[in-house]
Amino acid sequence: MTIEILPAQLANQIAAGEVVERPASVVKELVENSLDAGATSIKIDIEKGGAKRIRISDNGKGIVKDELILALSRHATSKIKNLNDLEGINSLGFRGEALASISSVARLTLTSKPHEQDSAWQACAQGRDMDVAINPAAHSDGTTIDVLDLFFNTPARRKFMRTEKTEFSHIEEVIKRIALARFDVAFTLTHNQKVVRQYRLATTASQQAKRVAQVCGQAFIDNALQVDCQHDGLSLTGWIANPQFNRKQNDLCYSYVNDRMMRDKLINHAIRQSYHDMLPDNTYPAFVLFLTLDVRDVDVNVHPAKHEVRFHQGRYVHDFIYSVCHQALMNALQLPQYEHEG
Ligand code: ADP
Ligand code: MG
Repeated sequence: MTIEILPAQLANQIAAGEVVERPASVVKELVENSLDAGATSIKIDIEKGGAKRIRISDNGKGIVKDELILALSRHATSKIKNLNDLEGINSLGFRGEALASISSVARLTLTSKPHEQDSAWQACAQGRDMDVAINPAAHSDGTTIDVLDLFFNTPARRKFMRTEKTEFSHIEEVIKRIALARFDVAFTLTHNQKVVRQYRLATTASQQAKRVAQVCGQAFIDNALQVDCQHDGLSLTGWIANPQFNRKQNDLCYSYVNDRMMRDKLINHAIRQSYHDMLPDNTYPAFVLFLTLDVRDVDVNVHPAKHEVRFHQGRYVHDFIYSVCHQALMNALQLPQYEHEG
């Protein structure tokens, strides 16, 4: 065989394999883009578990007409410029792959109106070379990305989609996770035209507790200890449930690093350890915890989907999380014991 450069669409479809696993991964990428654009209100409309439609509308800063083509191109990003930026990522995205990947495996249209631009423009990329057509459109300030017929041209992927209900439950989970991270943003999630979740802006502590209850259940917040500790460049805030409120599944394990949702072994391990033997065997703790540290002390460029991070001082971070949570649990335990003795 001769060596040839792959057509753009095929190259993008290959890249899509890494980031676009199922409808929920599309939702995650697009909502993260809206957050990076500074949106304070994001609407997520889903039809048929995302297989038919995923539409995300935001009131963020938008994309100027001249950059619509770039936004749909691979390796095109406004978020980093050089290696130095890569070592201190402040945004959720930086790989410049999501829109190109998604538009290679679905019918994607991007409509946007930056505040300073008089009218909106719409773009979609099609065909083997991903040629982009641009047309005038109607849209208020912000961006809407409409993704129809996910995986219509990649049958192998389409085969892996589960039932409408299962795919939607994954989408719901993504929205819950993001809603917990961003109290300063309102989210509305609809499925087949029905509002399924609505999170209003939560600025006060009680509004925030209410949002946590909306996501994790009132029982979680009723049984949760608040954590708020800063030490030497590390900060840990959030809620951990007392040991009695343990779970048979790890369904209420929400951890974030610099507002990015995580499934991180080191964090989960540190939290688990902090409960020592207060948790029965085969149960999981429930928590919503936000770790904040200097972006230069953590590497987010570990996995394309960015579920994992690498801490430059892993042991130190682990011990910090462990001791803050353990202390909170011990303090909570001590109060009733003390009253007993008295
Ligand atoms: P990345 O997020 O890694 O930069 P994407 O492919 O997800 O790559 O997006 C490409 C670019 O398109 C972004 O860098 C951003 O400039 C622009 N963009 C995407 N979505 C939005 C949005 N909702 N609002 C404003 N700009 C957006
Ligand atoms: Mg992105």
